[in-house]
Amino acid sequence: MNAPQAKPWIEAIAPYVPGRSTTDDGRKVAKLSSNENPFGTPEAAAAAYVRESGTLHRYPDASAAALREALAAKYGLDPARVIYGTGSDEILHLAAGAFASVGDEVLFPRFGFSVYPIAARRVGAKPVEAPDRDYATDVDAMLAAVTERTRVVFLANPNNPTGTFASRDEIARLHKGLPQDVLLVIDQAYAEYLEPEDDDAGLELAKTASNVLVTRTFSKIYGLAAERIGWGYGPAPVIEALHKIRAPFCVTTAGQAAAIAALADEAFVRRCRAHNLRWRTWFEEEIGRLGNAGVRAVRSRANFTLVTFPETGPVTAEGAYHALMEAGYIVRWLPGQGLPNALRITIGTEAEMQGLTAALRAYMERSAD
Ligand SMILES: *Cc1c(COP(=O)(O)O)cnc(C)c1O
Repeated sequence: MNAPQAKPWIEAIAPYVPGRSTTDDGRKVAKLSSNENPFGTPEAAAAAYVRESGTLHRYPDASAAALREALAAKYGLDPARVIYGTGSDEILHLAAGAFASVGDEVLFPRFGFSVYPIAARRVGAKPVEAPDRDYATDVDAMLAAVTERTRVVFLANPNNPTGTFASRDEIARLHKGLPQDVLLVIDQAYAEYLEPEDDDAGLELAKTASNVLVTRTFSKIYGLAAERIGWGYGPAPVIEALHKIRAPFCVTTAGQAAAIAALADEAFVRRCRAHNLRWRTWFEEEIGRLGNAGVRAVRSRANFTLVTFPETGPVTAEGAYHALMEAGYIVRWLPGQGLPNALRITIGTEAEMQGLTAALRAYMERSAD
């Protein structure tokens, strides 16, 4: 063999599939496939981004000091225990990379975030899926799947792509049941979409426990997906390990400035959360009204809803996916994630939700004939 060979565990990775932004015939239409914020980013964030264009030749602050200070002030954190990354995706990879390797197991729920198996395989660890309970996290099943080889547990809360949520009590029970040398990573990419009283207390756990890492992102409600900024909080020794293996300049200057400005705009976050709650509730009720064709909305707490379809028959997820695309709405069909019967639909603007729902209804009526 005289060519470089990727490691067998790298060969085993099924590549991440991003949400599409154009239709089969190349039209640019309503993109409801990547859980982006339909209202963009706060104005002050965009302005901060533009202001930094004069320093493109300078490396960013590798310590992201101002961003860490801003996060610490907002959430009552020790700035020395904040990690940041090129999206929270990078931090998920750092967690697997620092705490798992060949022969170890990385555990997450079935229908968990699709980056987890990639992060596990990348370092030669074995991805292990715990059975779900009607698409949601089953804490007992998670705990039952822990072995002496388990090193990292990933849980997105709310979860992507199911939108399901594990309560504060369930998170506490999961944490209690885990051996103390297992790192529990609570991925809170959608935390800002929860009503404040529904908080899962993950950040409180990360402040006090020796084995909990919480990750957050500026990509979702803050609308800065293009700038790739995530952050995390955990015990000092965990954070130190992550810093050793992150890229030295992993968040851009403009991104840091934009993130700090975004963080300050609490009114923007409240508006986006209220819109999301209103139209997600409306959409889930509309799906309920579509009748008994076996189509159902899984109750979501995030900025998207998983809609499940019958496996076979005149109305299917695949059929709906193509009909919606034809009508100008790109959603996420998930056969690669074990969900060929489901579409994940981002909550967009009012006009998008009305139009998409009408198109879905038309597809179902057409198919029933
Ligand atoms: C979107 C998402 C992320 C990561 O987003 P970044 O853009 O990398 O910060 C992480 N976890 C979940 C569950 C997500 O849906």
